[in-house]
Amino acid sequence: MKYNCPICNQAGLPDYKIQPIQCPQCNTDLKPYWLLNSIAKRQKRNKINKLIIAVLAITCLALLLLLSKNSADYKRQYNAADREIAPLLYNKLSNIKLIRH
Ligand SMILES: [Zn+2]
Repeated sequence: MKYNCPICNQAGLPDYKIQPIQCPQCNTDLKPYWLLNSIAKRQKRNKINKLIIAVLAITCLALLLLLSKNSADYKRQYNAADREIAPLLYNKLSNIKLIRH
């Protein structure tokens, strides 16, 4: 795609926002357009990077919360099962001792 010079309106210039050029007709250095565009691009990239970091941090926090909740649930279930099984085991052991006598 060809562009017009922003100063003298000369047609047929390459995109002066993606490469630093000089207008062949008015000799204006169009580098500031390229610089401004590259700064804007960099700022946009930084915003995207910050967004990605925020999403990753939130995902990690959510996973940690989920894991700690599951761990607490598991502990609770395990303790409850322990409390039910302990008297049964004690009875079985008592029976075994009785049979041995
Ligand atoms: Zn020009």
